[in-house]
Amino acid sequence: MAHQEPEFSAALTHALTDAVLVQASANELDKYSELADQAGCGLVVTGKDAIGGLRTMRQAGMNAPVLVDRRRYAGKRRMPGTAPLTASWLQAQYEAGATAILTDSGYVGCGDEPALDAVLSQTAAYQRRWDGKATLWAVLPLHQSWLRGQRATLTGYLRQYRVPVALVLEHATDPLGTQVAVQGLVKVLDAPVPVALLCTDVSALGALAFGAVFAAVGVRTSLRHLYPQTENGPRPTGVTSTLVDPVLSIVSTNKIATAYAASPDDQVWQCCCEYCHGRDLTWLATAGQVQANHHTFTALLARREEMELIPRGDRRRRWWRSCCSDALWNYDALQLVERHRWTVPGFLKAWDAG
Ligand SMILES: [Zn+2]
Repeated sequence: MAHQEPEFSAALTHALTDAVLVQASANELDKYSELADQAGCGLVVTGKDAIGGLRTMRQAGMNAPVLVDRRRYAGKRRMPGTAPLTASWLQAQYEAGATAILTDSGYVGCGDEPALDAVLSQTAAYQRRWDGKATLWAVLPLHQSWLRGQRATLTGYLRQYRVPVALVLEHATDPLGTQVAVQGLVKVLDAPVPVALLCTDVSALGALAFGAVFAAVGVRTSLRHLYPQTENGPRPTGVTSTLVDPVLSIVSTNKIATAYAASPDDQVWQCCCEYCHGRDLTWLATAGQVQANHHTFTALLARREEMELIPRGDRRRRWWRSCCSDALWNYDALQLVERHRWTVPGFLKAWDAG
């Protein structure tokens, strides 16, 4: 994050700073609330029932940050960014105890400056009206062109309206899978406003290391990026997937089992996170997706904790690049591509070069 003005101190000083949040639907919060209620974590409750979920979490005594993402920008009948924000939705978040207020923005398509302008100008107007009552973050669900050819236009608007922004990146597979996209994000993170990332994956750590205030990781593929409207998104396959921490990749437990069988004595399969307690990762194959997510978040939060101790700026950036280059080295050492036909995620190379 670039030099921040005092006007943003409220957005930056609370428990959201450097947090990795769990992004989940309202109807599954009971599975993740205990995991999320710890320092450095929290929840982004997602969907039209999200405020009810927030209320339930607060009534249950949850202390960690809880945010609400209405996600009107997603799906076949998504709203355009020019749609008016909903005053009652913003107010209800405040009354239910949201840590910060996320706008219920519509989608900002390729070159759609009126949509970008509408989201940011409305957020700025609400922020003035609320006059310090709470911090509003403009949710910006962006077509991938905004990190590429239109990146300078985007940062121009951010400088003009000066409101905190929470990005949601659209792509059919991985919005940060290429070097040009990662470089675009890094430039946006350098803008003189607080920036966060919603609906992301392992790249949450990269975004934090490069200056994002907080980042939210989805509990399933459909909440780990925004699918283009023409795509139906992934069909639920029933396949359990989980983080293989040494290669920083979320992989199906079937693939893990095959690679494990080839070299079961390799220490790489043993997970020392606080959830697995030294068990081999293969235990998650029969445990199910919720348990697999608990391992994923526990391992990501351990990495986050390591990052938090490193001063912001170049040293954090170097830390994340070395995490990515170590992961690439492990891919080679374990022959995961040649022998087991795993695919190296594009984001590892993109951040490594970033
Ligand atoms: Zn583990």
